[in-house]
Amino acid sequence: MRVSSYTEWSYHLGSIEGFLWVSTSSEKPRIVKVDAETHRILLNERDRNAIESAIAPGPLADLIDAEIVVHNELSPVQVIWENSDASRNGRILRRVVLPSARCPHGCGKAQFGAYCGQIHSKKSLSFWQQEHFLAETDELLGNGKYDTLSVAFFGAEPLTEISITESLLAACRQLAERRSAQYLATIVTSGLLLTKTVAFRLHRAGLANFEVTVDGQEACHDARRPTAGGAPTFRKIIENLRRIVREPSLHQLTGTIRMNVDQRNRRDAIPLFKYLRDEQLWPRLGFYIAPIRDWGAGRARQNHGIDPHDFGRLEIDLFAEQLRSGAEPTLLPGRKRVVCTAVRAGSSVVDPFGKRHSCTETPLSPGENPFASDNETEWNAAWTDTLIEGKVPCRSCNLLPVCGGACPKDWLLGRVPCPSFRYNFKERIQIAHLFEEARLGGQV
Ligand code: SF4
Ligand code: SF4
Repeated sequence: MRVSSYTEWSYHLGSIEGFLWVSTSSEKPRIVKVDAETHRILLNERDRNAIESAIAPGPLADLIDAEIVVHNELSPVQVIWENSDASRNGRILRRVVLPSARCPHGCGKAQFGAYCGQIHSKKSLSFWQQEHFLAETDELLGNGKYDTLSVAFFGAEPLTEISITESLLAACRQLAERRSAQYLATIVTSGLLLTKTVAFRLHRAGLANFEVTVDGQEACHDARRPTAGGAPTFRKIIENLRRIVREPSLHQLTGTIRMNVDQRNRRDAIPLFKYLRDEQLWPRLGFYIAPIRDWGAGRARQNHGIDPHDFGRLEIDLFAEQLRSGAEPTLLPGRKRVVCTAVRAGSSVVDPFGKRHSCTETPLSPGENPFASDNETEWNAAWTDTLIEGKVPCRSCNLLPVCGGACPKDWLLGRVPCPSFRYNFKERIQIAHLFEEARLGGQV
């Protein structure tokens, strides 16, 4: 019996004698409060077998139940193999398609901050390329390995080709129905072209979920996400969202608003959240923030990036505000076996030229693919080798089971993609525990 290598701990805000421990390999992490003496033992006995005699049976049973103290645990290499196996043998067939290389926004232009790294053009997926996408999807679904078809429409801006998006949505739904597979369809869009009528058409064709981007309050958003000609877009996007959430026939269409954050707009995150809450767009629509990442030619993070610790603090402020507003954001990550689309068997990303990719960020972004291949099985093998050989630090990271390495592409391009919880885990534990205590005390 030993203290798991996959744990995190934090201070209990209510008492200087209390400490909070949590597993970072559990499916459902649970916080355990321990006293100072147990905390000292947990810190110091990590590699020895003295735990059983040092901690009383009751608290020890609790620590075992929460997977903080373990009899046996997977080695990092076993975790990596388990992840690789889950990626190769998962039951979800993931298909990503970019119907169009066009985008109505000017985010890639220098005067708006060169925020986007893609290269846009007028190309869209031809009829035969759509047919090929559908035939390949059907063939993969027919091999009996999958019970779910997950299709994502991605940009440039997919809604510059509404008819293609609509017809592929409906055709994929038919394929899924014929194979008795569950169908999950989502679209990532700026929201500018997502009118109520368009949302209705897409929902009728099978769309279950959308994600739109709002990068701050009106002035801030319009300074960085205007149209290519510089016209504002905030009011139009918000009006589209208002109409969608008020439409009874769209109540099953779920949506999320993402705010991309860098140094320029970080102060807008909390005010934007409050605005969306006051407008009653949230919680009907989810809201989260994401740090600007390097992507393609724009090198956005180099130009405007936010320090990961600053982002971590901002995210904690947002969680606190969401908790105060009655929501319960996911604070403690659970076990993650499939790191992303790029290594998932059967998945593929088809760009507007009909070219197949593994990763969602290599289309329209020359030079982004660190591997020689566009095949997800080869990405999986190369990524697994990279982890096992210790070419990136994930193998010795205590967060490996809940992170998986975050982004194979970024690591291999020399960027550090660690998720926000790498930088704010202690604070996450603290507020998750405060919230849990308040709930037990009947205050929420
Ligand atoms: S990406 Fe960062 S947080 Fe995730 S396992 Fe690797 S080193 Fe750890
Ligand atoms: S490699 Fe990175 S960018 Fe590509 S799909 Fe995976 S997480 Fe996304």
